[in-house]
Amino acid sequence: MTDKYKRTIGRAESNTIQVNYEDVSEHHAIVYVEGRELIIEDLNSTNGTFVNGFRIKKVALKPEDKVSIVKHPFDVIPIFKKLMLEPEFNDYSSEFNSLKKVYDDYQTEKDRIVKEGQRKLSLKKFMIMSLPVIVFVSLYAFFSGDGSRGVFFFPVYIALNSLLQATAMFLTTDKKRDEKLKQAKINFNKKYKCPRCKTYQLSKEWELHRDDKQCPNCKAVWAKEYIPEF
Ligand SMILES: [Zn+2]
Repeated sequence: MTDKYKRTIGRAESNTIQVNYEDVSEHHAIVYVEGRELIIEDLNSTNGTFVNGFRIKKVALKPEDKVSIVKHPFDVIPIFKKLMLEPEFNDYSSEFNSLKKVYDDYQTEKDRIVKEGQRKLSLKKFMIMSLPVIVFVSLYAFFSGDGSRGVFFFPVYIALNSLLQATAMFLTTDKKRDEKLKQAKINFNKKYKCPRCKTYQLSKEWELHRDDKQCPNCKAVWAKEYIPEF
């Protein structure tokens, strides 16, 4: 299939695509398939080949790229349209399928962080609620008449200690949880992208993206047996 998509571009008649302008070199550039990419390569032309305004030597093209031979626009869409129908070029369903695990793992991780936060919160509540009991017991011990200062100071120590710990947890736990959730989301977003262009960010449930059948950005096929649309 590879040779079917080879295009030589230049002023010479022997090119697949003749671009007949003075500033275009005889053999200016070549477009070809390499692996699962459409490549454009400049053949050391005098005035250059440009992709999105940048002079290039060799780059992999995307359908939305603006290509020009010197300043003459060269439309890559017709090549892409045919190429996208080639399963060996455009079928990203197995890579896309592996994103299901990425999505599921993220949900599990989120649940785990939230539950862990709830456990800490319960402990914090318990400690705050136990304070009055400790104070009461210590006051009772002090005034109950046996007069032992030791019995008084020990519960006061525990009460203060619990108060400090509870305050510390109150100030830190939720922040830590939010920070963990934020980090998990950042890591998830890095992986949850279109496997081909890696620029299209997925955000919905995996199944909903699969129903889209193809990447809205690069048109890679996500669901097998699907014929891409432009
Ligand atoms: Zn894509």
